[in-house]
Amino acid sequence: MIPVNEPFLNGNEKKYLMECIDTGWISSEGPFVKEFEEKFSSKVDRKYGIAVCNGSAALIVAVAALGLKKGDEVIMPTFTIISCANAVITAGAIPVLVDSDPYTWNMAINQIESRITPKTRAIMVVHIYGLPVDMDYVIRIAKKYGLKIIEDAAEAHGQTYKGKPCGSFGDISVFSFYPNKLVTTGEGGMVVTDDEELAEKCRSLRNLCFQEKKRFVHEDIGWNFRMTNLQAAIGLAQLERLDEFVTKKRKVGKYYTEMLKGFGSIQLPLERTSYADNIYWVYGIILKDDLGLNAEDMMAYLKERKIGTRPFFFPMHEQPVFHKMGLFKNERYPFAERLSRLGLYLPSGLALTEEKMNEVSNAVKEILK
Ligand SMILES: *Cc1c(COP(=O)(O)O)cnc(C)c1O
Repeated sequence: MIPVNEPFLNGNEKKYLMECIDTGWISSEGPFVKEFEEKFSSKVDRKYGIAVCNGSAALIVAVAALGLKKGDEVIMPTFTIISCANAVITAGAIPVLVDSDPYTWNMAINQIESRITPKTRAIMVVHIYGLPVDMDYVIRIAKKYGLKIIEDAAEAHGQTYKGKPCGSFGDISVFSFYPNKLVTTGEGGMVVTDDEELAEKCRSLRNLCFQEKKRFVHEDIGWNFRMTNLQAAIGLAQLERLDEFVTKKRKVGKYYTEMLKGFGSIQLPLERTSYADNIYWVYGIILKDDLGLNAEDMMAYLKERKIGTRPFFFPMHEQPVFHKMGLFKNERYPFAERLSRLGLYLPSGLALTEEKMNEVSNAVKEILK
């Protein structure tokens, strides 16, 4: 089986983990957590980093820190992971959706302005699958209407927009360190910001809002979303190799594109836009309508050939759970729907070899024939 993802753990991971065991520092109190926060946040040009137990928790903390109230609205893409909408709903606010751009697969930024109401408080941007959102435009709209920007850079470690790191654009930005992300800690996440007050709020929220003086007296509801020293140890070792990982991902992307281009029946990821080169967090393909094949069929055929794949995201406006909550009931976002039905991604892990990519590409071509 060629797995859809295989992480690279052959740097200093073992050495740093042994240090945790040898010193007995395994909890969130250990020294690697701070070091990881400092090094990671500085890598993405931010002043503060708050490490948490996963990327979904980072989103919950980020949205909560902004102090959104019941009924406030947050504009976000329908085509994303459910963690984005969950965080907004957890805060008591309402997700307001926009469709996808058919080429970059990112949120259709030209729809943002039409979704703004007097209740809008923030725009949540999500950099999808390896290309960043066109931030200059979003920043302009946010300024014009006095909105906050929440930036989900969980798929964009090491990516830049016009030369500036993804994760440096939000009032508050988040990362995930799940094993298929460009930096992994097994499970993990981080909130980053330049705002000292927001950073303090996040530190408190991830730690049950314990107070310094009267520890067990709480003024607010928080969570235990702390990252352990063990996770941070792995993260530090991974971070040392981020540039190398980005280069490797780009190599994988280029290789697949070279192998698969010229087949009219699939749409490949954009190699670049005017503001960024793709880092191919995952290598997605979209089946063209006239093929008469949907992503599920293609995935089943590839599975028979022992090749692991994943479907694209299922849009928020079609989620049964949100319909049950009375959200998005008659909303339609045709480009996002198309991506979710016809899009899938191929094995894209850092440990991929050319031999395996040949096998995958040949299987795809054979099926398309
Ligand atoms: C992976 C991911 C998350 C969630 O991160 P977890 O660590 O899996 O909770 C959030 N947003 C996006 C865009 C992601 O890709």
